[in-house]
Amino acid sequence: MAFEALAFLRPGIQRRLFALAVSLALPLAAMAGARALEKLKTEQALLSERSLVTSRRAAQLLDQDVYMARTLLTSMAHLLDVDDPTLRNDSLIRSLFRESSPGFSNLWIADTTGTIHGSLVPPTFANAASTLRDRAYFQRALLTRTFTVGDPLRSRILPGSPYVVPFALPILREADRKVVGMVGASIAVDSLAAIQLARDLPLGSVLTVLRADGRVSLRSADMDEWLGRTFAGSPLLALDRRKPDVVEAIHSLDGTERLVSHASLRSYDGMVYVGIPVSATLMVARRQFLRDVAIGLVLTLIVALVALVIARRIADPILALTESARALARGDRDRRSLVGGDDEIGVLSGAFNQLADTVRDRERALEESETRYRQLFATNPLPMLTWTVTTGRIEQANDAALAFYGTARLEQKSLRILELLVPDEQERFALLAMPSIGGTARAGVWTQQDATGQNRQVEMFVGAIEREQQTVAVAVMLDQTDRLRAQQELEDSREQLRQSQKMEALGSFAGGIAHDFNNYLSAITTNAEMLRDDLPAGSPLRDEASEILGASQRAAALTRQILVFSRRQVVQEERVDMNAALRELERLLHRLLGEQIVLELACGEDVAPVLFDRGRLEQVVMNLAANARDAMRDGGTLRIETKRSTQTSVELVIEDDGDGMEDTVVSRIFEPFFTTKERGKGTGLGLAMVYSIITGARGRIQVNSERGVGTRFTITLPIAADSTLVHEVQVAAPEVLGGSEQVLLVEDDDAVRASTAAVLTRAGYRVTAVGSASKALALFDSADKLPDLLLTDVVMPDISGPVLAERATRLFPELQVLYMSGYADDDLLMKGLERHALNFVAKPFTSAELLRAIRRALEGRASN
Ligand code: ADP
Ligand code: MG
Repeated sequence: MAFEALAFLRPGIQRRLFALAVSLALPLAAMAGARALEKLKTEQALLSERSLVTSRRAAQLLDQDVYMARTLLTSMAHLLDVDDPTLRNDSLIRSLFRESSPGFSNLWIADTTGTIHGSLVPPTFANAASTLRDRAYFQRALLTRTFTVGDPLRSRILPGSPYVVPFALPILREADRKVVGMVGASIAVDSLAAIQLARDLPLGSVLTVLRADGRVSLRSADMDEWLGRTFAGSPLLALDRRKPDVVEAIHSLDGTERLVSHASLRSYDGMVYVGIPVSATLMVARRQFLRDVAIGLVLTLIVALVALVIARRIADPILALTESARALARGDRDRRSLVGGDDEIGVLSGAFNQLADTVRDRERALEESETRYRQLFATNPLPMLTWTVTTGRIEQANDAALAFYGTARLEQKSLRILELLVPDEQERFALLAMPSIGGTARAGVWTQQDATGQNRQVEMFVGAIEREQQTVAVAVMLDQTDRLRAQQELEDSREQLRQSQKMEALGSFAGGIAHDFNNYLSAITTNAEMLRDDLPAGSPLRDEASEILGASQRAAALTRQILVFSRRQVVQEERVDMNAALRELERLLHRLLGEQIVLELACGEDVAPVLFDRGRLEQVVMNLAANARDAMRDGGTLRIETKRSTQTSVELVIEDDGDGMEDTVVSRIFEPFFTTKERGKGTGLGLAMVYSIITGARGRIQVNSERGVGTRFTITLPIAADSTLVHEVQVAAPEVLGGSEQVLLVEDDDAVRASTAAVLTRAGYRVTAVGSASKALALFDSADKLPDLLLTDVVMPDISGPVLAERATRLFPELQVLYMSGYADDDLLMKGLERHALNFVAKPFTSAELLRAIRRALEGRASN
């Protein structure tokens, strides 16, 4: 409360200094109080003493006055005679009065009836006949026959005169001791020395004389009021007469508290009381106290003022400094304190300014480093995100992250990191990828949708930092989709390489066998043909010969297949319009598929021609269709579709809705001899051959299959460039199968050479057969007549067929060449063959095939 009153003071230092000033002033005030109290006590003691002294002295003085009156009256009683003439008495009284000390207001002599017979003051005026008989003191003197002191009264002789104290002494006749007269005197109360003494006392003091019965018989003041009143019951009377030294504080009847002392009278039955008001003593003490307090107050005020000034001088700079500090805290970094000086506050101000400089420098450094790190985050080319680990809420995303995930998506309120993952992976992510402080960064690949809604394989590196008492995850993202795809493709192509290497090995093995086999079959075929032709019609052996021929032809077909998949067969590429080729095959396909299977042929527009061996294309389609049929025993649909897939390729799709395959089957279908079909039904060579043909033509084949749903083969082939040289197929060659031209046959295999020569001779040709190229060359040197046709094997031990042909045609440009071969896998050989690709007959051949090829070769010459 005291502090509220001090609100005008600034809080703190000022208030405290003020309190200090006040606390200094308080003891001063207390000291003043104590001094006043002490003063009060000594004053009381002094007054008590004075009261005691006064009462004793007053009693003495009163007694002196009474004795003096008694002595005078005793003299008067001797000298005066009541029976003398009044005049004589008057003159005696006057002379006695002159001899006594002045003070008496009247002296008289009277008879027993109260009639005056002489007096100092003659009863001349008002009441000459006045008598003293009715006066109480007169009567008592008569009665007691002794000296009597009366109570004060006013003179009847001198009306309006002040109170006087009357005395009376009876005159006794010596003979019979009878009262014969009375002498009397009176003294003015005011002239009594005791009364005068009382009047010198402090204001309100009073002197009272009480008779033994308690009546007031004299009072220094207010006589009219108090005279005759009794003090019976007053504490005054209780004052012990035997203990005259006691002074007591007493509430008088007039309501004033007084210090009262008493003294006994000796001259008559009375007691003198002197009372001095207590208030008189207090007045002095109070005056002292007030003076001291006033001095104390003035001192306090001065100290307080000085404190105030000092406080201001201390507080103002502190307040100014405080204001500067607040401004600094609010962000005004350039604010400095202007408070100067060498004192502590000046030093503090200097220190404050240093602090402000440091704060500003630190903040700048901090800002710079923060900017650097923010840039590092914001401009990082890799997407970065932060989120709080407990809630999973995304907090920050850099530009790369916004671009990757989409700004609108990331700026959604309270988006959680899990929502960026595909639902399947969310639980696993929460389990595995949430980081912890001090833990190692978690890395993993997760599927996430990018801004375009595509699923991407994102590698996330997640670390943790502590920020504002929360664990915050920091993640860097790396889109690995392309890398993973490339890796997958690499693995696929490795697998393909492995596959093709396997095929290669198998191929060279099978091809080697098939080659030799072909030679045998050629011999068997031609010989069987000749045998059959030589037998007379109707001979039962003809059938057996035909059987041999049929079986060897079927064997030849099988070998051809082996050679195709092992790529050891000569390829005859041409520009093929796939749509046209498929339409030509349609009838054949219908027959193959049967009635239960629907064939859908969807030929796309803009399907450019491909460079392909037409026969082989047919083989591919027929093989795939046959497999589809086998998978659709209860009927179904076979769909064959062509379309332009890219600028440089076309696609051939062959799709069925049959049984489909398990993945384990799919992975093996291109292997030669892999079949799921029962013995005799399947050879396992169909798809191996298809694969070999397609890859050999720089195409690709893909399979998609699902058990119970169906299988789709997708073949992609490169488009034939316009400039590609192609061999137009000659249609409808004339069926002239014999001739008379000269043929030079070069063949290292004896059996093939013999049978081939036999077929030719039979057809009318003139044949020269040799077993090697060098023999043939020797013949060219020596012979005078040139052969029309050189029919030569391709692969021979000394000189190869193409080399031989090369040399011969250089010597004789007119010479025609026809190659016969079981396989053609040698690049060099193939190059040599290219120019003469038309002049080729694949081993094993039937005699018709051979003769047709020979005619074609010879006529090529003719048309040249
Ligand atoms: P084959 O037909 O002689 O068994 P292939 O090489 O043609 O040999 O086929 C190999 C195997 O691939 C088949 O035995 C069969 O299991 C499976 N297959 C091929 N094509 C299909 C298809 N369209 N539907 C179901 N299975 C097929
Ligand atoms: Mg098959």
